[in-house]
Formats: sequence, C-alpha cells, structure tokens
Amino acid sequence: MPSGGCLCGGLRYEYVDEGSKKIICHCRDCHKMTGSAFGTNIIIPASSFTLHGNPKHYSFKRGAGGAATHTTSFCANCGTTVSKNVSGFEKFEGMVLVKAGTLDEGQGFDEMEFDAEAQTKTRVTWLKSIADVPQFEGMP
Ligand SMILES: [Zn+2]
Ligand SMILES: [Zn+2]
Repeated sequence: MPSGGCLCGGLRYEYVDEGSKKIICHCRDCHKMTGSAFGTNIIIPASSFTLHGNPKHYSFKRGAGGAATHTTSFCANCGTTVSKNVSGFEKFEGMVLVKAGTLDEGQGFDEMEFDAEAQTKTRVTWLKSIADVPQFEGMP
C-alpha cells in the first residue's frame, strides 16, 4: 500500500491504489502551494485514502463563479501540504488529490508515469512538456 507523509512526519497517510489518475498541474495555485513549477497529483477516491495525525485545512474557491471549493490538508508544524479535496467540480467529486512528492522513498514517485499535464497555459516557459504525456490547456 503506498504510504507517505509530511516533511516532519507529523502527518502520515496510506491509500489503496485501484487505478489512480496521475496528473501534473501547472496552474498558479499549484505554483503557490508547492513553491515550485508544478503540482504532482495522484487522484484516488477519498474513501481509499487514510490520513493520520492532526492536519490543518485551508479552503479556497476556484472555477467559473467560484463553483469549486478546494480544501488542502497540511501540517501545522512543517507546512507540507499532503493532499487536497475538491467539491463542486464534477471531475474531482468524492476524490482526493494526493501530492505525489510526499510519498515515501521507494513508493513510486521517482519513476512515476503521469497520465496528463494540465493547465499548460501557465506552464513556466523554462520547462518543457514531458515526452509522451498528453497535454491539456485546462483539466483533462
Ligand atoms: Zn509535518
Ligand atoms: Zn494546479
């Protein structure tokens, strides 16, 4: 079972992966959230994800008319965001987006094969697309 956690280890998680979608996201929110050039999301049903510890949450609205609410789960001690839930957006309803870089060593992040790159309109100009990964200007 894939496992991971935050930088300090205060938050730990594991999940059952029965066919996750793995999506790189180049949106501005992911730039902020990660402090880096893109987000790495493993999308699985929320019911197959177990988060241990005492996460803090931050919610923000996005999409047309602010229809979607994104709620992050992060560690109050070290600040790492480990996952995000989305409501009001059909494609992610009932799903959790696990931040793939928080996986434990040896849990598949290093050799991960992504299903898509999303929000490519805001990809930083110094980064090329990944060969053979489908590209989407919005969400796939
Ligand atoms: Zn932590
Ligand atoms: Zn994003």
